[in-house]
Amino acid sequence: PTGSGTVLQASPLLPDLEKALAERYRTVRLHELADPAAALREHADDVVAAVTSARFGVANSLMDALPRLRAIVHFGVGYETTDVTHARARGIDVSNTPDVLTDCVADLAVGALIDVMRALSAGDRYVRDGKWSSAPFPLATRVSGKRIGILGLGRIGRAVARRFEGFGTSIAYCSRTPVADVPYRHVPTARELAAECDALVVTVAGGAATRGLVSAEVLEALGPRGYLVNVARGSVVDEQALVAAVSEGRIAGAALDVFADEPNVPRALLESDRVVLLPHIASATHETRRAMGDLVLDNLHRFMTEGTLLTPVP
Ligand code: NDP
Repeated sequence: PTGSGTVLQASPLLPDLEKALAERYRTVRLHELADPAAALREHADDVVAAVTSARFGVANSLMDALPRLRAIVHFGVGYETTDVTHARARGIDVSNTPDVLTDCVADLAVGALIDVMRALSAGDRYVRDGKWSSAPFPLATRVSGKRIGILGLGRIGRAVARRFEGFGTSIAYCSRTPVADVPYRHVPTARELAAECDALVVTVAGGAATRGLVSAEVLEALGPRGYLVNVARGSVVDEQALVAAVSEGRIAGAALDVFADEPNVPRALLESDRVVLLPHIASATHETRRAMGDLVLDNLHRFMTEGTLLTPVP
């Protein structure tokens, strides 16, 4: 048990979550302070837990400045912005918010693929722009019955696959280790998966291990009739190669919830009708964000009362 130390908030969080943190714990909102260095000097010896989001993480230098820090609690399932090896070496445990966001992220991946293949957003723009009376809307591409490739068959990848079962699709996947209890075909590499599917849905973890996994070569294999959906992390896709492939019609289209340098989106994508562009909203529903906030509070409560975390990262 860690007693009643201070909780450091290292990134902006939902207003309700910030309120709950402030009500329950002595909290320092580091990211809001004009002089964070001075605040650190004042509070460094009291901070036992840090709460943060995947966007910010906790830098190694911040961990090093907090000698009593023993827990980093992430809002979100991705935690690649925190160096877990460094944390462990300092005796700091790390948690995330798995499972509670899986359904909403999978829903969005399916919706985004239907959007880009059936041109829903493009059709909406066409009606709003008053073009309906002057020219017929171009034909789109059928979704049902297609071959879906899932890159990363984890919690979210499986939820995407389950949804597509209802569309009469055939489903294959790529992950480093074949998954035992699924009816889908394992394909050893991303390139082979891309070559044999009509739509490649990216649901791998982010971080150094998957950087650029969807390379120019993988996009080439996806080909001019293939679609890409990315709800994982912008870093997983070679964005320059994607821009080139979209601009030159070497893939049919892409639906992207995540980008290499958010919130900056390459101009060529903004100008293309082949892409659906979303502002990193896959988990952004009232229900899921509340559940994520609750899981952050539950992790923190467990840590402050028992010294352990409820959903530690592997
Ligand atoms: P999981 O850890 O359950 O799944 C990740 C999967 O990726 C694992 O099955 C893993 O399998 C696979 N994987 C890892 N590295 C590779 C690789 N090099 N090649 C192929 N497969 C690989 O995580 P979740 O499903 O819960 O979440 C997935 C990711 O989705 C998160 O890490 C996060 O970045 C992103 N996400 C995005 C959101 C958004 O708002 N857009 C919201 C929530 C999550 P194996 O180890 O066998 O390779």
